[in-house]
Amino acid sequence: MKLQKPKGTQDILPQESAKWQYVEEFARETFRKYNYAEIRTPIFEHYEVISRSVGDTTDIVTKEMYDFYDKGDRHITLRPEGTAPVVRSYVENKLFAPEVQKPVKLYYMGSMFRYERPQAGRLREFHQIGAECFGSSNPATDVEMIAMAAQFFKEIGITNVSLELNTLGNPESRAAYRQALIDYLTPLKASLSADSQRRLEENPLRVLDSKEPEDKVAVEGAPSILDYLDEESSAYFAAVRSMLETLQIPYVINTNMVRGLDYYNHTIFEFTTEVAGSQLTICAGGRYDGLVAYFGGPETPGVGFGMGLERLLLVLDKQGVELPIETGLDAYIAVLGAGANGKALELVQSLRAQGFAAERDYLDRKIKAQFKSADIFQAKTIITLGESELESGELTVKNNETRQEVTVSLEAIKADFQDVLAQIGL
Ligand code: ATP
Ligand code: MG
Repeated sequence: MKLQKPKGTQDILPQESAKWQYVEEFARETFRKYNYAEIRTPIFEHYEVISRSVGDTTDIVTKEMYDFYDKGDRHITLRPEGTAPVVRSYVENKLFAPEVQKPVKLYYMGSMFRYERPQAGRLREFHQIGAECFGSSNPATDVEMIAMAAQFFKEIGITNVSLELNTLGNPESRAAYRQALIDYLTPLKASLSADSQRRLEENPLRVLDSKEPEDKVAVEGAPSILDYLDEESSAYFAAVRSMLETLQIPYVINTNMVRGLDYYNHTIFEFTTEVAGSQLTICAGGRYDGLVAYFGGPETPGVGFGMGLERLLLVLDKQGVELPIETGLDAYIAVLGAGANGKALELVQSLRAQGFAAERDYLDRKIKAQFKSADIFQAKTIITLGESELESGELTVKNNETRQEVTVSLEAIKADFQDVLAQIGL
């Protein structure tokens, strides 16, 4: 038996992981600007935490849960998304308590799991970065959430991003619209895909964002949610739109966008971008005012988004965005002869203790091979250490780009390598 990774998972190897770290750090910095703090929840949850909150009839719950019974016969699922676990934690840890600063702004990043058929851009373990804001029903919070994602995309260098906006209204408006949609779709039922025929019974709004061509045709003449909004819902949506306009964030209204999770109300949004001729969603979110109460907390409004990290990296790659990743070493120590082994260790450790990134040869290789390593590691300097250096106590430090050199004592390097660097223009 060959031991291989499970289907639908990925090993992130060093070259790739450097990009991941860059994107994650970039996101952390964006979150800091908006006063978000990180929350880390378990990667597995009780099945019930996810099932009813995300929606019993959603694809995520009906088909894609990575669930199992543990040795204590508890029904467990690996988390398929971030919002339900964060809300569970918000309630369980009483973050609604008066002494906690409101609104409560949280972000997360980590693995999510969905038992899907693996294909390009679709994995069983994938990663999301997301944010949630609890305790404000000010439409400015929705807009800030959108603006935060927009700033992140813009500053990291993704282009051609468009924002699609819709509203599901408050629960009353949504219910009225649901009925209108059932009335519209029922006579067309026979022309719908098998999945959508089922959705029509269970979750008719989901028919709207079906990817099946026959469903797309059927929903073309569907009623628009905008015609079913009551006064409160319409005023809320108008406020969101006008604030987006104030911030000059362009958007298009897409009344057929519904989102795959049941907990949303009012504002929902997706950021999409074009990659090789097709539109890809890179971030999706919305408002979920009922979710905290659903988990047993006090009535608390919430809004958030999630973005898929794999998809984000794919877009960065396809759009040719060069991430400014710093990889180079400050020094590479070329070690000549077994006699220099111990001193090389002392030297490299001293450099590291001074805060420099340093590497040495461990394999007693020919000098040429060692210089090649220095180049591969993009070492700014090369320090050669062999028999003659051991004898004299004097070492040559070379600027690996300009070739400028300086000969200094081992003690000088150990005392202040920064000063040595300055002598060769670094
Ligand atoms: P889709 O319609 O593509 O299945 P979704 O509605 O299931 O998307 P969400 O639940 O909104 O997706 O998740 C948000 C983001 O997470 C997606 O836009 C995507 O980038 C990413 N994502 C979702 N499922 C997967 C997966 N199986 N593999 C990789 N990324 C995923
Ligand atoms: Mg999906």
